[in-house]
Amino acid sequence: MNKPILIRGARQLVTLRGPAAPRRGAALNELGIIPNGAILIRDGRIAEVGQGRRVENLALAKDAIEIDAAGRVILPGFVDSHTHLVGGPPRLGDFEMRIAGQDSRQVAEAGVLSSVKAVRATPSRTLETHARICSEQFVRHGSTTLEAKTGYGLDHMGELKVLRVLAKLNRAPLDVVPTYLGAYAVPPEYQGRDYEYIDWVIAEMLPMIRRRKLARFVDVNCDRDGFRLDDSRRYLEAARSLGFALKIHAERLSHSGGARLAVELGAVSADHLEQAGPDDIAILAQSSTIATLLPGAVFHAGSNRYAPARSLIDNGAAVALATDFNTGVSPTCNMPMILSLACAYMRMTPAETISAATINGACALGCADRAGSIEAGKDADLVMFDASDYREIPYRFGVNLVAMTMKRGAVLYQRGEVSCPAPL
Ligand code: ZN
Repeated sequence: MNKPILIRGARQLVTLRGPAAPRRGAALNELGIIPNGAILIRDGRIAEVGQGRRVENLALAKDAIEIDAAGRVILPGFVDSHTHLVGGPPRLGDFEMRIAGQDSRQVAEAGVLSSVKAVRATPSRTLETHARICSEQFVRHGSTTLEAKTGYGLDHMGELKVLRVLAKLNRAPLDVVPTYLGAYAVPPEYQGRDYEYIDWVIAEMLPMIRRRKLARFVDVNCDRDGFRLDDSRRYLEAARSLGFALKIHAERLSHSGGARLAVELGAVSADHLEQAGPDDIAILAQSSTIATLLPGAVFHAGSNRYAPARSLIDNGAAVALATDFNTGVSPTCNMPMILSLACAYMRMTPAETISAATINGACALGCADRAGSIEAGKDADLVMFDASDYREIPYRFGVNLVAMTMKRGAVLYQRGEVSCPAPL
């Protein structure tokens, strides 16, 4: 047995313990903060959490390795429940075209197909190397669990290659939860034959992925640059009958009916929702489907059409926040920046953003039993911030305050010192 670890001296230990998850309404503001908190970790799991003196006096703490939080803030590791981790190279040309005023939807549509071409042509080792570099960036910004979608392969070989890369990345060191997004866009060889493509996915891909246990979730882009509502339904019903849990890219570019479909089919989450209207909000609020909001994509596109977070929360919907990390539309691994955007543009409170990016993110991935809060029995996935108040995390936008990231009790990242050479 490894030596226990005692983390002590946290000015604010933000536990997220308490109300049932996913959090809704006023419960999103309840962070379960313990002032001067301490955590005792044994074999990668949280053994005790509480007020410093009590935890430090426990028998298990006597010969523990000590980590001094020195008055900082500690949070559960972020659970990023929507990423496109494996993509092609950065789409820098698209970025400049959008800046120059070209229609961002047209740029994005062409961009997806260029990424498909790139992913198909890239060897899996190269894809894996690039994805690992991105994972390290997630670690530096405090994420400890990621969902990762396919969708840039879109044929048998391409999708299988990405799923295998995701399997290799899992637990090395982050938990990577794989999602099959075979219906992201109509692949070039099926242009104009969406129905036939979905037929092929249902007959070939879904059963094979299920048999080999390569994905936990199945996702569809139900939109004008993806699939019509009827094809989306057919695909998701087939996935559900095989036992997959469901996600939907819904109400993103247009009002597609995706949010209603998500609720009807019992999807775990409906993601994006920038175009969601009052009916969608009412339906989501009454359901167990989590509204996963992705302000990074809106920001990067230079749009001002953010998802109606305030209305979703005030009506009782369970809201999660994620980066939507994607080579084309939201190329950031910085969850704290997503919290800043959610505060500034979607009027979420700092506390709501933290609940949305931790415990509710974990619910959107079906892993709230081990992640998303600091409670005895859960994995010791923690982030320490160079801050003395949790509100500084979204307040200081674009600044990385992460001092340490821990995964299952192992320190993955520790901020280095800035050197101060003697004057010449
Ligand atoms: Zn997405």
